[in-house]
Amino acid sequence: MRAGGSGPVREAARILDGRRNAVALTGAGISVESGIPSFRGTQGMWTKYDPMEYATLHAFMRSPRKVWEMLSEMISVCGGAAPNAAHKGLAALEEMGVVRAVITQNVDGLHQAAGSRRVIEYHGNLDELICVHCWKRYPTRDRWTPGGVPLCDCGEVLKPNVVLFGESIPWLPQEQAEEEARACGVLLVIGTSAQVSPACDIPRIAKESGAAVIEINPEETSLSGNVTDIHLRGSASDAIRLLLKELSPGDEAPPSAPSGH
Ligand code: NAD
Ligand code: ZN
Repeated sequence: MRAGGSGPVREAARILDGRRNAVALTGAGISVESGIPSFRGTQGMWTKYDPMEYATLHAFMRSPRKVWEMLSEMISVCGGAAPNAAHKGLAALEEMGVVRAVITQNVDGLHQAAGSRRVIEYHGNLDELICVHCWKRYPTRDRWTPGGVPLCDCGEVLKPNVVLFGESIPWLPQEQAEEEARACGVLLVIGTSAQVSPACDIPRIAKESGAAVIEINPEETSLSGNVTDIHLRGSASDAIRLLLKELSPGDEAPPSAPSGH
């Protein structure tokens, strides 16, 4: 942890422990320590592929084969990644009854791999492909090979079942996320720049419904200083490790995934 020291961590842990029904909203930043680059930042694949050029529905409909250059790299990077201490720590907090659900904007499946059970995938995931022409769905592993362009039985290029820029959120995760935001006592906002709409509305919805908003991010965001009540300025894994230590002071072991999942 950098700025903030232990005071804000202690205060955040006290609120989490007192209210016990926290929901986490996560973004690309929580998976950076697993080796998956975020959109905003200067590293990795997004210097090669401008998300606004490659990650839009319009771009996919116009030239799906070009967009698959980026998608292939994304699937390879995510497929080779493992959950980090932050994903595992959130799963441990769910097991402890502190966190009730995770709303994630990520498409990498790492929360489930870490053992989180109640995960709302707001932007879908990379495990499934869908045909934009006939709507047939396939598991990604059945149709995609590294570097290849997966095709539907009807001959069309398949699209991963993720929400590209320009697409709307499927109604079920949208409803579930808003319901969790309205019902939670604490919203942990972790590793998101809160610039992608409508996910960026979730913190405001939670706040207006009476939740405390705890932000974990090494940087300032549009939420910091107005929607955010406590900002833990550090990496997701450091901050969650410190929170877990405050919440279970006798347990010095690093967080591990709950068994059986
Ligand atoms: P973003 O790229 O806009 O912002 C990432 C945020 O994470 C930044 O505010 C940054 O300061 C913060 N961050 C960086 N390193 C961190 C760390 N170690 N710990 C905590 N925070 C850290 O991401 P977004 O707001 O999620 O929006 C991008 C969109 O693209 C989302 O839909 C996102 O899910 C998607 N995307 C997903 C993945 C993935 O599935 N892993 C990767 C890239 C982009
Ligand atoms: Zn088809």
